[in-house]
Amino acid sequence: GACPPPEIGALPTHGRLAAVCGVRDERLRCGRRWAAVRWAVVRRARGGKYFSSGNEPAENNPVTPMLRHLMYKIKSTGPITVAEYMKEVLTNPAKGYYVNRDMLGEKGDFITSPEISQIFGELLGIWFISEWIATGKNAAFQLVELGPGRGTLLGDILRVFSQLASVLKNCDISIHLVEVSQKLSEIQALMLTEEKVLLERNAGSPVYMKGVTKSGIPISWYRDLQDVPKEYSFYLAHEFFDVLPVHKFQKTPHGWREVLIDIDPQVSDKLRFVLAPCATPAEAFIQCDETRDHVEVCPDAGVIIQELSQRISLTGGAALIADYGHDGTKTDTFRGFCGHRLHDVLIAPGTADLTADVDFSYLRRMSQGKVASLGPVKQQTFLRNMGIDVRLKVLLDKSDEPSLRQQLLQGYDMLMNPTKMGERFNFFALIPHQRLHGRNHQTNACQSKPSPSPVAGFGELAWR
Ligand code: SAH
Repeated sequence: GACPPPEIGALPTHGRLAAVCGVRDERLRCGRRWAAVRWAVVRRARGGKYFSSGNEPAENNPVTPMLRHLMYKIKSTGPITVAEYMKEVLTNPAKGYYVNRDMLGEKGDFITSPEISQIFGELLGIWFISEWIATGKNAAFQLVELGPGRGTLLGDILRVFSQLASVLKNCDISIHLVEVSQKLSEIQALMLTEEKVLLERNAGSPVYMKGVTKSGIPISWYRDLQDVPKEYSFYLAHEFFDVLPVHKFQKTPHGWREVLIDIDPQVSDKLRFVLAPCATPAEAFIQCDETRDHVEVCPDAGVIIQELSQRISLTGGAALIADYGHDGTKTDTFRGFCGHRLHDVLIAPGTADLTADVDFSYLRRMSQGKVASLGPVKQQTFLRNMGIDVRLKVLLDKSDEPSLRQQLLQGYDMLMNPTKMGERFNFFALIPHQRLHGRNHQTNACQSKPSPSPVAGFGELAWR
């Protein structure tokens, strides 16, 4: 796989880059990884109304340690917000769903695009290199991933970086992972780091683990984005924003009222939704001109977007966010997944994933004009613009085994088919305003302005 180093001007044809760069097909050789993927199970991509909690028989409503903890909390201080419920259930440091288990893949509760096809991560790797080149090939960059799951996506991106070493040569790259889950951080380290170099661990420090990747790049783990050094960075968040806690509201004749979670007085050990009797503080996050009668707002997403926007406006770089979501139109999207099936959100808390669609209009608003935003564009459009068809053809041409070809085609269909993940998932980016005006942070003001190259994946029509 020798790769001719592309020049700046040569890069916008991403399909071509994907075609020439001969990424090593580790997965094609590695039957074990492929064997773990089943195509029929992606129910997570389905939307709909799952707001109410059904009347499950008692045997389907086990009293989990998390349920006991929440009932104790509600008995002591009263009904809790949906956001507090989501936060406790998913990321409570002792009993949270994300903290102690591997929920991804066939044996888990849901499966994500990078786990479905290697092409997904490869195209994202090309996106970052393309932006790095378009903004003047900075001497160093940090790649920061929020919620890296099993580390599969990053592994595919780093393989592209290795293959394009001639392009990235002399660039000082470091990897920074923001992960709250002890268990998943261990899986990420196994997947990504060089076994011979011991990991440094320090549970009390903001950098709780440090190591070196298989390709020799320094890698560090944090619990909070705030602790990642404020240097020139590319940020990545795939299926991360959808697990951040949302507040839910309903319009009533008396104004907005927050949906809360209380103990059901009729059924023992059961939770139920109630409406707050008066206004609650999170109401401040609802837009004055809101026309929907049910809304979900995610202040934590707002805080993270403000932090990303601030960082990108000061140091340059970009953020690429991919998730299922809408542009400010949906109402009730809070739902649960367990064993690849929809799961009543109030039953057996701590045993199922909880998620809500990402409101991209809210993310755009929270960037507060500090940076420019692109998208959301549908996954199908983004991946097609990034050259997925060319990449698929290269991989198909290289594989003789019918079962591998079949898997590649099924993976492509899952990612691209509008009825599967192609239309439900969206890509959204934050980039410095200068990027759209043909200047970069390094350009001297006296230099003449080069015309900006289009931002890969989004195409000209998606520019805002
Ligand atoms: N990006 C991966 C995993 C998605 S699952 C993929 O696409 O396959 C969500 C990820 O976010 C998990 O790694 C989970 O542990 C992490 N996570 C959840 N809440 C978090 C929080 N508040 N801060 C940091 N990471 C979080």
